Amino acid sequence: MTLSFDPDSLILPVGHFIGGQLLPAQGVLPMHRPSDEKAYADCPVANVDLVDQAVQTAKAALKTSNWGGVRPRERLNVLHRWADLIEQEAVTLARLEAISSTRPVGQLVSGDIAVSAEQIRFFAEFADKEGSDLVPTDDASLGMIMTEPYGVVGAITPWNFPINMAAWKLGPALAAGNAVVLKPSEMTPFSTLYLAELAVRAGMPAGLINIVLGDGMTTGNAMTGHPDIAKVSFTGSTRAGSAIMENIARTGIKPMTLELGGKSPQVVFADADIGKAAAAVTASIISNAGQACVAGSRLIVEKSAAAELIDAILVKMAAVTPGPTWDAESRYSPIISDRQRWRIDDIVKASVAAGAQCLTGGHFMDSEGYFYAPTLLTAVNQNSPAVIEEIFGPVLTLQTFEDEEEAMMLADHPSYGLAAGLFTGDLSRAIRLTRRLQAGTIWVNRYGRSRDHILPTGGYKQSGIGKDLGREAFQANRKSKSVLISL
Ligand code: NAD
Repeated sequence: MTLSFDPDSLILPVGHFIGGQLLPAQGVLPMHRPSDEKAYADCPVANVDLVDQAVQTAKAALKTSNWGGVRPRERLNVLHRWADLIEQEAVTLARLEAISSTRPVGQLVSGDIAVSAEQIRFFAEFADKEGSDLVPTDDASLGMIMTEPYGVVGAITPWNFPINMAAWKLGPALAAGNAVVLKPSEMTPFSTLYLAELAVRAGMPAGLINIVLGDGMTTGNAMTGHPDIAKVSFTGSTRAGSAIMENIARTGIKPMTLELGGKSPQVVFADADIGKAAAAVTASIISNAGQACVAGSRLIVEKSAAAELIDAILVKMAAVTPGPTWDAESRYSPIISDRQRWRIDDIVKASVAAGAQCLTGGHFMDSEGYFYAPTLLTAVNQNSPAVIEEIFGPVLTLQTFEDEEEAMMLADHPSYGLAAGLFTGDLSRAIRLTRRLQAGTIWVNRYGRSRDHILPTGGYKQSGIGKDLGREAFQANRKSKSVLISL
């Protein structure tokens, strides 16, 4: 079966998924397909009452299913069955995602969806292996750190990797014994709705996963301020993250995980394998057209290697061809919206006006859809808009350095610290600089996520609080209680 599909014939689930059922709802927010700019659907917006209905449904489901109290292996088994179904239904999921998002259908099936199933299994395995601890005390006492689920977790996800971000939130929260109310981005809700339906089909008690659609101001705000949502898990921009913190501070303090924006450096020394570095650097800024939180958007290269690296990157950027997300052969993604495409262009133009030189790109692509050409900007400095701002587009800046000190000075961003790349043939230097780089993830002689889900991800500075993935993400979905018993 070919993965390619006709976007006009796809049937879309429009509504909220509450208590195991799709509740049809009137669309409000107009949606445009990034690949051909066509208006094709309207996204409903859940108000305070509907969010409350979802939260009360989640609470009731926790109670009747005793999800947090059953033998942990039962939770594990359901999550494994869900992962199996996700793999079996990969094509349907991929189409529901590809129509609205920037993710090409082929990459969804081989990448995002396969990885999401794997990550759900990864978190399932913690259910019956990670728990409370006995701690050392004198022999007249018994000390314990007892852990338990929070109850209802409120999760909010962005549009750039919809299924994968939902898996990062749902997997650990459910494995740890919670129920979830999740709001996907108003631009890409369909695949998340189907993901929840598959969970129920796999035997997850109805009401443990509830999906409410809507925007941040109405639905998101109602969720983060809801008194019965015990913990918030958010992935999105730093701007929205700070609005969420503010709302939580105002409406009642609760724990939160915030996975936010980035402006990650890739530092290349002349002793690195320049061919490999060029491939990794280019892939990181071209993949999803730079619309990734960890996009390595600031290239910082030793002066003597700059010319060779630039030549190799320009060749790779020139080979990129746009194609709609519903074509199985497409590799290069459109930008999510017309507004975002203009924002990218504005930042590029402002940087050029401030002295940057544009070696390639810097314009919309000559095709249907919101495509932006891969762009390489040189002659930028630390104050250039393209170096400061998270562009969320295929725009790479290049700065050169003479020595390690200058490289570290350029790599340090005033507010972001999500990820960093380091390319060098000198092991001692790699370790020395890994200690100095201020980022939550460091990749050495490679760039981008692997399938080592045990490595947590999260930001330094304003790139976030807390971790997704890894043991930390499971633990963050349980609260702990210290118990001391006098014997
Ligand atoms: P966004 O912040 O605009 O929206 C993210 C989600 O938050 C959406 O569902 C949106 O409706 C909701 N939202 C917005 N304002 C809100 C509010 N005040 N209260 C509650 N919810 C609100 O981000 P986006 O444009 O969808 O995604 C791109 C951003 O996400 C980038 O900054 C990117 O770096 C970041 N991101 C981070 C990671 C990570 O792991 N750190 C991963 C993916 C994306």
